[in-house]
Amino acid sequence: MSSTIDNLKKIKSTISTNIKLVVVSKTRTIEDILEIYNNGHKIFGENKVQEIAAKYPLLPKNIEWHFIGHLQTNKVKYIASYINMIHSIDSLRLLQQINKQAIKNNRIIDCLFEILISNDITKYGLHYEDVVAIIENPSFKELHNIRIKGVMGMASLTDDKQLIRQEFKHLKHYFDSLKNKYFADDTEFSEISMGMSNDYLIAIEEGATIIRIGTAIFGNS
Ligand SMILES: *Cc1c(COP(=O)(O)O)cnc(C)c1O
Repeated sequence: MSSTIDNLKKIKSTISTNIKLVVVSKTRTIEDILEIYNNGHKIFGENKVQEIAAKYPLLPKNIEWHFIGHLQTNKVKYIASYINMIHSIDSLRLLQQINKQAIKNNRIIDCLFEILISNDITKYGLHYEDVVAIIENPSFKELHNIRIKGVMGMASLTDDKQLIRQEFKHLKHYFDSLKNKYFADDTEFSEISMGMSNDYLIAIEEGATIIRIGTAIFGNS
């Protein structure tokens, strides 16, 4: 068995089946992706529009694609016909554009609010109060072709496990607050996307429902 498939199987055997594993295939080849696909795993994540747009036509159409990187509003149109979930909602404008393109494609697109939980210098993501402002904006209610599924976050790049755990606890807390305040009757609002190769076990302990893993499966790129 190849080491990639071995890694995939090991990870799957350590996580509960109700955790969704997004295999992060950025920088990996079509062959790399097909090897995983042919082993029965069909959920993949990419972080650049240009890259996913190049790969999509070359791969089986029953792949569930997740977009996990910063998304510019003017590029939504290139992925709107097939993207399953966008993890990186960081503005109302982006949601409005996704809604518009989803309408054009007669689809509903699942979305997660990306919430800042680390002190690393990152350009993108929302503070909790920004999420509240988006939800309370009157135009938010009119977005019928997006489905808000929950939240996404990234912990600090550090070896400090306690800090990582604390940051994941914050994201879980934000999820719970939003759920109670705005989505109590909405069963769709149910996902917490957190945890990568180095911290997914902590993320799961702290309530992750979706993990995004690249390096621990494919090795260093
Ligand atoms: C690259 C990336 C991942 C996967 O990171 P690994 O450390 O390779 O598992 C997860 N989430 C996002 C947003 C990424 O950009």
